Amino acid sequence: MPFRCHSCGDRVPDVRATCPDCGGFVRYVEADRDRLCTAVEADPTAALPAFETAVSMGEGETPLVSVEDVDDGPTVHAKLDSLNPTCSFKDRGSSLVVSAVTDPETSWEALVVASTGNTAPSVAAYAARADVLCAVLVPEGTSLSKLSQVSAHHADVYTVDGNFSDCFRFAQRASGERVLNATAVYSANPFVASANRTVAFETVAQLGSPPDWVSVPVGAGPLLGGTHQGFRELYERDVIESLPKMLCVQARGCHPIVRAVERDEPVREWDEPITTDVGAIADPLTGYAEDGEETRQAVIESDGDAVALPDDLVFEWTDRLAAMEGIYAEPASAASVAAVDADVFDPDDTVVSLVTGHGLKESHGEKPDPTPIGDDPDRLRSALLD
Ligand SMILES: *Cc1c(COP(=O)(O)O)cnc(C)c1O
Ligand SMILES: [Zn+2]
Repeated sequence: MPFRCHSCGDRVPDVRATCPDCGGFVRYVEADRDRLCTAVEADPTAALPAFETAVSMGEGETPLVSVEDVDDGPTVHAKLDSLNPTCSFKDRGSSLVVSAVTDPETSWEALVVASTGNTAPSVAAYAARADVLCAVLVPEGTSLSKLSQVSAHHADVYTVDGNFSDCFRFAQRASGERVLNATAVYSANPFVASANRTVAFETVAQLGSPPDWVSVPVGAGPLLGGTHQGFRELYERDVIESLPKMLCVQARGCHPIVRAVERDEPVREWDEPITTDVGAIADPLTGYAEDGEETRQAVIESDGDAVALPDDLVFEWTDRLAAMEGIYAEPASAASVAAVDADVFDPDDTVVSLVTGHGLKESHGEKPDPTPIGDDPDRLRSALLD
């Protein structure tokens, strides 16, 4: 299978996350122009690695809808990855990870995954479907409501002393020949970023041409890096004529990758306090700053940019998307649209903002306060129409 080191270009002897020669991250690369064309024209999965069984629930091929509420700004389209089977884009990677584990040619039999947000329920769902054992690691003190989706799929949940980074490092130590680390970072496995290439194939199919910008909420960044790679493959094989610029969006209260882009230096872990409530993208990269560096390189290669947004702007756009556009997004996802206020885009740009997760995952906004209406329908009509 064409799994190659993303740094030195060497083919790797077996499917693994990092290159045995140089330590670079491994990605699946589809060099065949016909398959890339099929991925754009007919089936986005045509350029993914094929396993004996595709464990799938219809992930991907998500709608692209216009966002009207942008005054004098660029043309913005929201790609609703919130409409995936478990309500986040993580399903693109989970489908491939679980397909790999079930393939008799691979040595893996079970999965371990670190997550406090959307990866765990996504991997747990696909693991349940394929009857694969799955252990989930979360930081001690994680709210149980966040884990109810995981428990519904009967994954085993364990707590680890520390934060997400500690859970990830534990997962790395627990993984090996028989246990695959399904965590959604480049250094855990080569599948997640490779699967996210389908975002690029679908976007080109939906718009008919690449946009000027793709705005991506970023934790460690395999979504941004994978999407960029998809566009790059299409560009190198002359399927598209331009390469979109990638915008890396993080929260001001934890923005290690944006900081490094601004300072033009390699990504270092975030050692300041984490002061954002936009949890799904607050990744301090403790112990795996190279993951963030891989994402910074994708931003640079695409001639893109990076912005750190304050929480109040992110929450304002979470509300606006729901109230004005009918799009119920979790705050981390709304950050990709909120970036229109960051002075990056030109008015004649076309922007695709990835709405990565559903609002039902992490509700935000005012508590509902229903008004008793009594028994008089006229009262309702006049409240509605007058
Ligand atoms: C995981 C996640 C992200 C960040 O994706 P990475 O590929 O880890 O950078 C963004 N938004 C949501 C809702 C997520 O769950
Ligand atoms: Zn290498």
